[in-house]
Amino acid sequence: MTDHFIGIQLGPQSVYDEGVDHCLDIIQEQGRVNTIIVSTHSYYGAHGRSAQALAPDHGVPVRDERSRNTTKVWINHHEQYFGGTFLRHKRDPATEEYADRDVLEDLQGPIRKRGMKLYARILEPHQRRPVQFIDNWPKIMSIDVYGRIYPNTCFNNPDYNNFWLSTVEDMFKSYPLDGLQYGSERSGPLSRVLLHGEVPSCFCEHCCTRARAKGINPERAIEGYRKLYEYITGLRNKTVNPIDGVFVTLMRILLKYPEILAWEYDAYTSKEEQTKRLYGTVKAINPDAQFGIHIDHQQSTYDLFQLAELEYAEMANYCDFIKPIAYHDIAAPRVRRWLLDSVHGSFLRELPLENLLSGFYDIMGLDKNKEPKLDELDSTGFTEDYVYRLTKRLVSNVGGKVPIYPGIGFDVLWNAEHVPANPDTVYKAVHKAFEAGAGGIVLSREYAEMRRANIQAVGRALKDLNI
Ligand SMILES: [Zn+2]
Repeated sequence: MTDHFIGIQLGPQSVYDEGVDHCLDIIQEQGRVNTIIVSTHSYYGAHGRSAQALAPDHGVPVRDERSRNTTKVWINHHEQYFGGTFLRHKRDPATEEYADRDVLEDLQGPIRKRGMKLYARILEPHQRRPVQFIDNWPKIMSIDVYGRIYPNTCFNNPDYNNFWLSTVEDMFKSYPLDGLQYGSERSGPLSRVLLHGEVPSCFCEHCCTRARAKGINPERAIEGYRKLYEYITGLRNKTVNPIDGVFVTLMRILLKYPEILAWEYDAYTSKEEQTKRLYGTVKAINPDAQFGIHIDHQQSTYDLFQLAELEYAEMANYCDFIKPIAYHDIAAPRVRRWLLDSVHGSFLRELPLENLLSGFYDIMGLDKNKEPKLDELDSTGFTEDYVYRLTKRLVSNVGGKVPIYPGIGFDVLWNAEHVPANPDTVYKAVHKAFEAGAGGIVLSREYAEMRRANIQAVGRALKDLNI
């Protein structure tokens, strides 16, 4: 078997819908995958997709995940590990599909027999959904700029942090795992207000105490973020028209309230501190287990504040590999709708969209002659050159300290206008990832979405690369 890491993100429902061997046959034989990265908790991601989003050609009938009540917890937890937190995972076999199964238990035998590796995957759930499944969830949610509970969790809340430390301790003591891919698709309050118009959080007592200890004034931060939020909301609603200009007025708020940037950076720091604790927990239990960090699309590709916060050379000190989202296909509509339209509809409305796209390509070091034009972003994807440049940037940053395994993404549904991934580009993207120095790749986003032609394109590329 190759030394390269060839992983795949697998939603556990596929294991049961398709049958363990059926699913592993496709993954191993057609995609040449050697590492299964299975979600053990799906409070966020991994499921809930429409039938249209799922691959129709796996040989079993597609089931619309939105109408199913599948469990969100795919393993059996043990109470003795859950000290220091009042939160508990819950499963109800009477009402939830597959709540009587244990995906790590069910996969480990077949995976070992095939000479493959078994990794767990956790996406830290920071949104509204877990409140339906976990008792006491509102008590660990953030506090927004108006003092209200806001459905985002807080990395300075010990009950929340201990909940995941307990979860990971239990997993690595109870199962012979080869590794964990952990991720938090969470941006800080500044990005959330600027890119999404979201109300800023968190300003809970834990965050305020921490800030004071660092010499950051919470009252000033709250006041600044309120002004910023109300200004951005006014721009998005087209109810403000500042005399000195939209962008200049934004800069004025940031200059008057430097606490805004300080709070943003500290939110990033507390997120990374939790990742460090999780890394340490895994390593203390099993030093050979591999701890990898998943980097989401806005952080890897288009949110300039998050791109500036994240220093990969520093991150290499608390992980064994980094898996950035390098999903070339879906990058194009995401950049168009989640970045360009968003900023053009608020603080960068003075710049034409064409200029914003051109500036984005230049700032990110992408080749505007190769990548899509403005009117092509909705219907096509970025090229394999994007995968190469993103991978190369990360490889250069970590200087060989840890390997980079870019996520090669395909068949991530956007809308009917967006043309599905093309096996030829997927093939080239795999080549380009290795050409840029990747130590492996992760087939993404979820196995359930991937059409066979694209899985086979990955397998063909690996074979041609002698991997
Ligand atoms: Zn907080």
